[in-house]
Amino acid sequence: MKTKFSRKEAEEKINGFFKKENFSADEVKKIKRIAMEFNIKLGNHRKLFCKKCLNKLKGKIRINKNYKTTMCENCGFLNRHKIGY
Ligand SMILES: [Zn+2]
Repeated sequence: MKTKFSRKEAEEKINGFFKKENFSADEVKKIKRIAMEFNIKLGNHRKLFCKKCLNKLKGKIRINKNYKTTMCENCGFLNRHKIGY
């Protein structure tokens, strides 16, 4: 079944989703699909999940001058995010 909703509803769904304490890789996949469909940028939400395995990102954090690197506890991938805007 294809879910059809407005762009605004999609944005609300995405924002609500990332407020959750926990989410699974499958759920992130679904959210990413919705975001793509509506061409919505995930922006800062991207920092909340591992780029590689899509699980909620947690693990060792290292910070240097420009980047914050989080090593994914699940797959070991180094997720790098720029600090500041
Ligand atoms: Zn990972």
